[in-house]
Amino acid sequence: MAFADPVDRPVFRFAPSPNGDLHLGHALSALENYRLCQTFGGRFLLRFEDIDVERCSPAFEEQMLDDLHWLGLEWEEPVRRQSDHFDDYQAAIDTLTDEGLLYPAFLSRGDVKRMVRASQERGEAWPRDPDGAVLYPDICRLLEPHERTANLAAEMPYTLRLNMNDALEVAGTPIYSSRFGSDGGAEEQAENPALWGDVVLARKDIHTSYHLSVVVDDALQGVTHIVRGQDLEPATAVHRLLQILLGLPAPAYHHHRLILDEDGRKLSKSAGDTSLRSLRQAGVTQSDVLRMIGMEQA
Ligand code: GLU
Repeated sequence: MAFADPVDRPVFRFAPSPNGDLHLGHALSALENYRLCQTFGGRFLLRFEDIDVERCSPAFEEQMLDDLHWLGLEWEEPVRRQSDHFDDYQAAIDTLTDEGLLYPAFLSRGDVKRMVRASQERGEAWPRDPDGAVLYPDICRLLEPHERTANLAAEMPYTLRLNMNDALEVAGTPIYSSRFGSDGGAEEQAENPALWGDVVLARKDIHTSYHLSVVVDDALQGVTHIVRGQDLEPATAVHRLLQILLGLPAPAYHHHRLILDEDGRKLSKSAGDTSLRSLRQAGVTQSDVLRMIGMEQA
């Protein structure tokens, strides 16, 4: 019998942010990821997405490792920690800057809020992204070079945003992502990154962003199969666009159902009573967790 070449094995990853306790929603995500990884004969990686170093902490990491072991997961070492790799994200920012696809955006949140309010008072709806956040105005993209230079010389704080129209032109459309099902089926899905407007790729305080670091890391770690919640499904459009712009491989995606609270909202890390830590302290077992998230074995 021939064994698969290890190089050809699919690579899966679970990528929590250590800024709170894992809850039942994470348990579903981690276990679904792990189950699919085993079905596909893959390698399993863990990554801590801790670019927001102020909100993340080693104590949360420790608790997450403990909870994930308790759930029965095993992963390859070393665990990648994003805060150890800011240079990798900077290299990607430099590539996009060299291509002329980023611009400094100087408006504060308050400035944007005031503009949105004024437009609403005139009876004009302001466009929003798939997460419901208002799109950034065109102003900074349209600044004259001398105005931009003056703002930079005055050391005005700024974020770096992707010029979406130019990016789409460079990438070429239509853009597709690969999707895979638990039955092994695969399909291509058309994506529309324009819905996100000029996304932030590097923040003022942190010189990267979720969208940028996630695509860079998935490529550097050789991730081939991404399993994550449906709440992140719209973001896949931006991730595919960035992969094309940065010349990175295209992983396949699977977005799983979410666990909602009684009010129909996605569980959050502040929903303490569903945290694995408090459930464990209350004597809940692994099979109780499986039952609570609708994954009990037949
Ligand atoms: N770090 C993200 C989260 O905790 C997951 C990112 C991803 O799976 O792409 O929601």
